[in-house]
Amino acid sequence: MAKQFFNYLVIGAGSGGIASARRAALLKPSLKIAVIEKARPGGTCVNVGCVPKKVMFMTATVNEALHDAKDYGFDIVKKNKFDWAMLKEKRDAYVKRLNGIYTSNLGKDNITYIQGAAKFTGPRTISVEGVEYEGEHVLIAVGGRPTIPNIPGAELCDTSDEFFEWDTLPNKVLVIGAGYIAVEIAGILHNLGVDTTLVARRGAILRSFDHDIGKNLMSEMSDAGQKVQYHTNPDAIEKAEDGTFTFKGTVSEPGQEPKQIALEGFEKVMFAIGRHANTETLGLDKTGVNTDSRGQILVDEFQQTSAEGVYAVGDVCGKALLTPVAIAAGRHLSHRIFNSEPDRKLSYENIPTVVFSHPPIGTVGLTQAEAEEKYGAANIKIHQSTFTNMYFAMTTRKPKTYMKLICEGTEEKIVGLHVMGLGADEMMQGFSIAVVAGATKKQFDSTVAIHPTSAEEFVTMNWGLSTKS
Ligand SMILES: Cc1cc2nc3c(=O)[nH]c(=O)nc-3n(C[C@H](O)[C@H](O)[C@H](O)COP(=O)(O)OP(=O)(O)OC[C@H]3O[C@@H](n4cnc5c(N)ncnc54)[C@H](O)[C@@H]3O)c2cc1C
Repeated sequence: MAKQFFNYLVIGAGSGGIASARRAALLKPSLKIAVIEKARPGGTCVNVGCVPKKVMFMTATVNEALHDAKDYGFDIVKKNKFDWAMLKEKRDAYVKRLNGIYTSNLGKDNITYIQGAAKFTGPRTISVEGVEYEGEHVLIAVGGRPTIPNIPGAELCDTSDEFFEWDTLPNKVLVIGAGYIAVEIAGILHNLGVDTTLVARRGAILRSFDHDIGKNLMSEMSDAGQKVQYHTNPDAIEKAEDGTFTFKGTVSEPGQEPKQIALEGFEKVMFAIGRHANTETLGLDKTGVNTDSRGQILVDEFQQTSAEGVYAVGDVCGKALLTPVAIAAGRHLSHRIFNSEPDRKLSYENIPTVVFSHPPIGTVGLTQAEAEEKYGAANIKIHQSTFTNMYFAMTTRKPKTYMKLICEGTEEKIVGLHVMGLGADEMMQGFSIAVVAGATKKQFDSTVAIHPTSAEEFVTMNWGLSTKS
């Protein structure tokens, strides 16, 4: 059979692939565009990432509010009953609805949807289920999958993918990992009343975030009774006769002899230790697309791979693994290729992000360590504040809010803005615009506060005491 030709052939119907294909269709409706997907439209974010995760974060947040309700005078008859199966069914239905919307949007844009796993057979030719396709331009947007370590018993464990398949809520869970996915899932489970232990390899969690943010979250998690086993490496997972799992690991605390430990009785053990690019089975050797030692596709600042006419965006490139990053990179790319905008590209600086921990974290710009390295410690000024959100004035639990502004130079340009506390997730987007726009501490000071909110602390912190006017 002759190869089918497309002007734009996109591999992966996830955040980056769909965004790029649809933007190309919008810019040039005459283009022949196809998207190839081996699983479900929407990719990681819609099916096993941001979307179902946020539903679970909100579920856990509702439980927190139920606990606070009596402190606000509500006589709630608490039956302590949570219908996991009902929520899962509704969540799955919501995701399925989104799958349908994604497919129908592709149809509306006249984009061909090809179901199946893509494999390169030539520089820009791709085979899917025995059918060959050729692209004038080819985009690789195949994302990644959870990393499973090579230790005995790892095959018995779950990852974030399986977390969204659990039919019942377990009583006792071990989550291995210290990045945002591990912290978020452990927080959700803990707040739903599951006996949850987080295992971290080093003495801290969220180590790529600002040090004080991680430290403050660790303190809040400890106050909330969330168990964390620090300095521990997994050695093996074993299944006991009663069907529960035992974690065997080595604790290596600085200055102390390593010691072996065993933690028992877990109904589920989950690895959330990182992600791997989905490139092994793509046949990249047929295209001349180079990868790094971890299989991540190497691209330049314009998302161009080492092969002419072949591009890559999103998680497969291993940089800033976030949905809006994949979307923005994909859209910029389409403008560059199909709309004669040769300079269009995504800036990977000042990418804001939120960790849906309990309490949540919002962050944009540099950490203090990064700022000191870039500008020198003497040129950095830190403003920070710790306080209790007014919501907790009425409640028995008193989680703190921590805020930090990292300012550079005599103008005190804000190069890093970080917050942990109730509402951090929703306050971050606005502040990130200010940081991207190059706002200074003086401009923050000259912005009138919105009272009573916790966000106001960002414009009242050390008010007028920083930059000389
Ligand atoms: C638990 C979890 C929570 C997350 N939470 C957030 C969050 O709150 N906010 C945020 O911004 N990001 C979050 N992320 C990250 C976000 O999901 C990813 O950054 C984003 O989905 C990356 O988009 P992408 O287009 O690069 O890849 P993906 O969305 O992963 O899409 C890749 C697609 O390619 C398909 N594919 C792979 N190989 C082939 C092949 N050979 N042929 C055909 N199709 C193929 C896959 O099936 C997949 O559908 C989360 C991720 C996880 C795992």
